[in-house]
Amino acid sequence: MKIIVAGTGFVGLTHAAVCSEYGHEVYAYDIDERKLNAYRSAEADQINHYVNEPGLADIIAENKDRYLFFSSDLETIIEGTDAIFLCLPTPPNVDGSSDLSYYFKAVDHICTLLAKRADTRRIVLVNKSTVPIGTARQLERKLREYEVPNAGVASNPEFLPEGDAVEKSRRPDRVVVGADTEEDFRIIRRIYSQFVNHVRIRYIETTPETAESIKYVANTLLLTYISFWNGVGARLGETFSNIRMEDLKRGVTADNRISTWGSYVSNGAGGSCFGKDIQSLIYQLKTSGQPTDMLQSVYNINEYQKTYLIDRASREAGARFNQKKVALLGLAFKQRTNDMRDASSLKVVETLLARGVSEIRAYDPVAIDEARRFFNPENNHLFEKISYHKTAKDALAGTDMLFISTDWEEFRGLSRTIEQAVKPPYLVLDGRRMIPDYNELTERGYGYIAVGSPYMPPK
Ligand code: NAD
Repeated sequence: MKIIVAGTGFVGLTHAAVCSEYGHEVYAYDIDERKLNAYRSAEADQINHYVNEPGLADIIAENKDRYLFFSSDLETIIEGTDAIFLCLPTPPNVDGSSDLSYYFKAVDHICTLLAKRADTRRIVLVNKSTVPIGTARQLERKLREYEVPNAGVASNPEFLPEGDAVEKSRRPDRVVVGADTEEDFRIIRRIYSQFVNHVRIRYIETTPETAESIKYVANTLLLTYISFWNGVGARLGETFSNIRMEDLKRGVTADNRISTWGSYVSNGAGGSCFGKDIQSLIYQLKTSGQPTDMLQSVYNINEYQKTYLIDRASREAGARFNQKKVALLGLAFKQRTNDMRDASSLKVVETLLARGVSEIRAYDPVAIDEARRFFNPENNHLFEKISYHKTAKDALAGTDMLFISTDWEEFRGLSRTIEQAVKPPYLVLDGRRMIPDYNELTERGYGYIAVGSPYMPPK
C-alpha cells in the first residue's frame, strides 16, 4: 500500500518507520526541512535529536530509500496514495480545549491537492492525532467542502508510550479503527494486515466517534490510576509512620481486579498527552453542560504532585531556598525519552526560581538539548541560573539540595554518588523514590524527603 504519514514527530516518525518494516511504500511528510534532513541522514545522533526512541534510528537506516521516503513536497508524492495518516500536533489552548490549527492547516493543504489529483482511487484520511470527539466528522465535511472525489475518513488513535514507541507499534495491545464504510475499513485492514486476526492483539473496528472516545477515556483512566496512588497512597505513607509503600502497593494490587500499572507514587505524570488530553476531555464535557468534578480532581492532584516536595522541604525540614544551589537530576518527563513536554521538571525549575535559588545545576542523560530549548534565557533571563552537566556527580558539586525528578535507572545508585559529591548538611528531595538505601544517607547526616514517606531527618 502507498501511505503518507503527515507530521513526523514521535507518533508520525515511529508509525512511518514501523509501516515501512511491513513493506508498505511510506512517505513521511513534514513542513520542517531540518527534521527531514536529520531523518534522511539516517544518523542515529541526528534522528535522536528530534525523536529519541530506542530502535527507531535502526529501522530508518534499514528502510530509507527502499520502503521509507522523506518529503516536504506533498504535491509530488500524493498521486496513487491509499491512506494519509494525520499525526499532527494538537496542543492545549489556555482554556484546555485542543488547538486544532496545525491539524486543519495540514488538512486544508491535503484537501486542496486531493481535489485535483488525477488518480481518483479510494483514499482514506486517517486521524492518528488525538482530536476531540467529532473531529473525524469535521474532516468529512472538509472533504465535501473541497469536493475531494472518492475519499473517506477514519479515526485510528495512537496508544504508543514514549520510550517504548517502536516496540509498542510493532506489538500494540490493540488497534482501534473507527470508520463509516466497509471500503475504508478494508483499506486500513490491508495496511494493518499483520494485526488483523492476531492471537493477542485486539483489532477493534467501530465508529469514528467511539474510536476518538477510546483514546480520551484510556488516557484519563491511566492518569486516574496515577493520581489515585499519588492522592491516596502517597498521602497515607507521608502521614502515618511505618507504612512501607512498596508493600502497600504489592498488597493492594495482588487483587487481580486492581491494576498494577500506575501503582507508584511520584512527582506527577508529564508528557505530551496525559495533561493535555484530560484538559481537552474536561473542556469537551463542560461545554456540553456535563459535570467534570472527578476529571478535574485527577488533573489537580497530578499538578499538585509536581512541586509539593518543595513545600514539604520548607515545612518539614525548615529548608530555605533563597540564594541556595540546587542539583536537579532528570529533566525528561520519564525515563527512556528526551521529551520534556509538560515534564514535572518544568514546574520544579519554575518554582525553584520563584523561591530565589542562585543556581540550578541540571543533569539528564539525554534531554539536555531539549532543556536548553525549553529554558532559553532569551525567553526568561532567570533561566541563566541553570547550568548543565555531563554527569550526576558534576551536577551535585557545590549544591545545598538535590531534587530527583525523573526515574532514570542510573539514579538508583545515587546514594554513594551523593556521599562522594556533597557533605551534610544536605537535603535530598526524591520525587521518584529512587534511593531505596536512604538509611545510609540519613545515618551519615543527610536529610531525605521522598514522595510517599515521612521526612527522614539526619540521624
Ligand atoms: P510532535 O509535535 O512530536 O510532531 C508533530 C509533527 O507535525 C512535527 O514534526 C511538526 O513539524 C509536524 N507538522 C506541524 N504542522 C504540520 C503541517 N501543516 N504539515 C505537516 N507536518 C506538520 O507531536 P507528536 O507527539 O507526534 O503527537 C502528534 C499527535 O499524536 C498529537 O495529537 C498527540 O496528542 C498524539 N499522540 C501523541 C503521543 C505521544 O506519545 N507523543 C501518543 C499518542 C498520541
